[in-house]
Amino acid sequence: MPELKCVLSSGLWAVLQEDSQRTRQPVGHIVSTALAAHFDVAHHTIYQVSTSTALVEGIYQGAVRVGGLREHGDLGLGTFEDLDGEMVIVDGHFFQIRCDGSVREVDDAVLSPFAVITRFAPEPAVTLDQCPDVGHLTSRFDTLRHSDNVFFALRVDGQFDYVHTRAMCRTEEGVPLVQAAAVQPEFEFHDIKGTLVGFWTPEYAKTLNVPGYHLHFVSDDRTRGGHLLQCRGSNLRLQIQRDGDYHIALPETEDFLKADLRRDPAADLAQAEGEKK
Ligand code: ZN
Repeated sequence: MPELKCVLSSGLWAVLQEDSQRTRQPVGHIVSTALAAHFDVAHHTIYQVSTSTALVEGIYQGAVRVGGLREHGDLGLGTFEDLDGEMVIVDGHFFQIRCDGSVREVDDAVLSPFAVITRFAPEPAVTLDQCPDVGHLTSRFDTLRHSDNVFFALRVDGQFDYVHTRAMCRTEEGVPLVQAAAVQPEFEFHDIKGTLVGFWTPEYAKTLNVPGYHLHFVSDDRTRGGHLLQCRGSNLRLQIQRDGDYHIALPETEDFLKADLRRDPAADLAQAEGEKK
């Protein structure tokens, strides 16, 4: 990332120092946030369409087009209309991984019922030497998070010995996510170079987004991918960004407006998003 050098008045410098000590944010963060606000650039903001509860209840009608999402960032994940596969957003490219395992880059007109995206400007990368399983990966991210009460965007690049994913199949509107997830195909890849992208969401936000870690994978050659269930690798490059602003666009589709979204989705999410026991 580019670095900025500039001359400041001693008064302004003192205010910056004071703010940095009070908020425990590096000076660079504060300057960057202030500049982003000045130029009205969304910074460290998660933009999300619909909610995890709506997904759990089978609300799969397209609510936003890829072109609309694109304005809000360059890294993220989601799904497509009628639950037609997994969405992976890397470096501003939107990929669809279908349940036949195929991967394609989608255009701006394609619809999504649920997506989460951010403009990724991470902290300096760290290397995870040995990653025998996804638990080690998330434990390393735990040490980089510093809080359980804000959102984080995540990215992992590297050579994986093993990646285990799944991809949702096109599902009829109203079929609960747990039921849809029970028949989803899974994929195993060996010795594959690729990228994981995703988010960590606080437990308190479980009605809105998948709590804890949620990662999607796409290979470097863009031919493999899916919702991550398990992985193994070494010398992985980890990047993290704290997201303190959380913006949700609620669908105006008929199904969303009429849905009963009062149920706690936590148990269904854990069952639908995790490895099959
Ligand atoms: Zn997923």
